[in-house]
Amino acid sequence: MDGANVPTMAPVLILLGPPGAGKGTQARMLQEAHGFVQLSTGDLLRAAVAAGTDAGKEAKAVMEAGGLVSDEIVIAILKDRLADPDCATGVILDGFPRTTGQAEALDTLLADTGQQINAAISLEVDDAAMVARISGRFTCGGCGEGYHDVNKPTRVLGICDKCGSSHMKRRADDNAETVGERLSAYHAQTAPLIAYYEGKGVLQSLDAMGDIKTIATTLSGMVRNAVG
Ligand code: ADP
Ligand code: ZN
Repeated sequence: MDGANVPTMAPVLILLGPPGAGKGTQARMLQEAHGFVQLSTGDLLRAAVAAGTDAGKEAKAVMEAGGLVSDEIVIAILKDRLADPDCATGVILDGFPRTTGQAEALDTLLADTGQQINAAISLEVDDAAMVARISGRFTCGGCGEGYHDVNKPTRVLGICDKCGSSHMKRRADDNAETVGERLSAYHAQTAPLIAYYEGKGVLQSLDAMGDIKTIATTLSGMVRNAVG
């Protein structure tokens, strides 16, 4: 698939920020509020690992070590997903691009389909706080809602607020050692994208150290302006 079925003006938003910055949480809220589709390469890769595809087999060890999966695999997965009809309402890219190679590939992909990046929004956080955020987080296995032991507990212990499931999951790579590796990979390979998007005139930044709802409100305003 080449994405040619995506209409020309579908908004494209990018969330940038280190692991634990809240990209996934905020992307889900934007999806609910604005109807855009959250595309998380982390989720797509975890699905590939669970399905045991060739790409998943190759990605598994890299992800467990906190490194970055090869551009080739990630770009192929993203390109496929972007061509799905639901993406025609607009997409929020969460965790992609993560390298300059991926950013350039995205530019090419969008140019081919007559699309543009509306905004690349950088969630600014302190590294020190990220370890605590990541090691406390868990997700509902039923509906995918994200939670945190301290910052966003479920209303009833062990039960999802949204769907009532008691099947909660913690990611294999959300442990202190791997988090350090993921932060290093972020600074070495992903942080340069802030300058990349600044150069294109689409960069916006927001302080993402506050509470989830305040950040969501600010972000929602930015998105509304960016998509016109
Ligand atoms: P986080 O942002 O908290 O690190 P993600 O779910 O986005 O979590 O990513 C988990 C892991 O999946 C990363 O540590 C990396 O190994 C892999 N991954 C996700 N997106 C990409 C990408 N765009 N390029 C390379 N690897 C990726
Ligand atoms: Zn749920």
